[in-house]
Amino acid sequence: MSGHATIRNGNKSICKASPWSHEKLRMIVLCQNNIHQQSHMNRVVTHELIHAFDHCRAHVDWFNNFKHLACSEIRAANLSGDCSFHNEVSRFNFGLKKHHQECVRGRALRSILAVRKVSREEAEKVVDEVFDTCFNDHAPFGRIPHDKKDAKFANRDFENRDRYYANL
Ligand SMILES: [Zn+2]
Repeated sequence: MSGHATIRNGNKSICKASPWSHEKLRMIVLCQNNIHQQSHMNRVVTHELIHAFDHCRAHVDWFNNFKHLACSEIRAANLSGDCSFHNEVSRFNFGLKKHHQECVRGRALRSILAVRKVSREEAEKVVDEVFDTCFNDHAPFGRIPHDKKDAKFANRDFENRDRYYANL
């Protein structure tokens, strides 16, 4: 998909600086003026779709339960490629595996601070509380996908996750 989605709500533009999803209207909004590359498009769509997946999977209370929001932001940053190697190298952030975790934590924090009026300390506390659980929750992938092609295989791992044990 090459993305040009400028959606207007009446006469009011609903484009914002970053992509967003609306849980009641069940839509994802991406603004063409902010997305210039296919790879970026893939990342933002995947990021928002992880939120949509979480929304459908669990009774997420986006507004009142801070942990729910933090968890979904951690998962979205972890699984969308927001912190993939290429992406990070292009930011001149060389690092090891540990760096991926730091990147996910930082991005989740930024996402929360962008949408909620809370202090950085408060947001950090919540992110750290749920980090391990949510960082290790890779659904609907069996693991963190390396790239677009690998996502298919990672999803197959997830679909097959109980198969081997079930037949024992
Ligand atoms: Zn997000």
